[in-house]
Amino acid sequence: METVVITGAAGFIGSHLCDRFLQEGFYVIGIDNLITGNIENIEHLIGHERFRFIKYDITNYIHVPGNVDYILHFASPASPIDYLQLPIQTLKVGSIGTYHILGLAKEKKARILIASTSEVYGDPLEHPQKESYWGNVNPIGPRGVYDEAKRFAEAITMAYHRYHGVDTRIVRIFNTYGPRMRVNDGRVVPNFIRQALLEEDITVYGDGSQTRSFCYVSDLVEGIFRTLFSDEIYPINLGNPDEWKIIDFAKKIIELTGTTSKIVYKPLPQDDPKVRKPDISKAKSILNWEPKVSLEEGLKKTIRYFREYLQKHGNLD
Ligand code: UDP
Repeated sequence: METVVITGAAGFIGSHLCDRFLQEGFYVIGIDNLITGNIENIEHLIGHERFRFIKYDITNYIHVPGNVDYILHFASPASPIDYLQLPIQTLKVGSIGTYHILGLAKEKKARILIASTSEVYGDPLEHPQKESYWGNVNPIGPRGVYDEAKRFAEAITMAYHRYHGVDTRIVRIFNTYGPRMRVNDGRVVPNFIRQALLEEDITVYGDGSQTRSFCYVSDLVEGIFRTLFSDEIYPINLGNPDEWKIIDFAKKIIELTGTTSKIVYKPLPQDDPKVRKPDISKAKSILNWEPKVSLEEGLKKTIRYFREYLQKHGNLD
């Protein structure tokens, strides 16, 4: 049986990866320090004969006993609010954490896939963003802690590949949503859905003309799976090119939830990218992959999850 180590296993994407690799018959070792991850996301896996959870901070030296065939590195705070509250941890996990996990891959001769991000493109001057674009990042702004840590993560991953011959993969993940996002993580999808379900004001930052392109989590997981088993060493964009203005996205949430909430406008956070949309032609040609789940279909599933979550935790009747 092949073993996969997943960092950030209790996080939104990490927990879905645990599910997928267990379904595929792997032995899964999940690691998370639970600073932004939630144990509830993997509660259903505790006791599974092929799953083991280790609560650990990978900015320390990592030892995993036994054979490891694959590593998926998904540990990091991932919301702009988290970067503001956890700037040092965000920098450390992307840099020192990535360094340690690459060391583990080298020692175990495991193939490793690193989760990078569309944030490496910063506030992009090229639209849509292709993998060949080098980006427009403010290194000293509030988002710099995440953007630069992920850029460092890509650089050290390529160095381990070139210098040590480690078998590496890099995915650049664009905005992804779905069940198990933290209801209070501050990102636009959980914020708008929570506000709509609780009949609170919907907070559009700036004038809402900035754009994002939203990918449903099952599509992303499929893209990650295919990347891991492809031969491509260089970064691959994974995301849904269906681009939305944030104001129109707010109206879509109002329509789908049937809420009485009203839109209110709040200041635009510093360095908030004005546009974002992946060019996924590389993923299409190399992985034969493209997203299948429409925004409406994905949002309905996500709204159902948040409704149940808020009911379970006593915020909603
Ligand atoms: N946003 C918003 N209202 C919110 C939360 C976010 O208008 O309550 C905007 C935010 O300014 C950004 C977009 O939605 O333009 C996506 O923000 P998110 O925090 O989800 O992640 P980002 O794509 O900026 O990393």
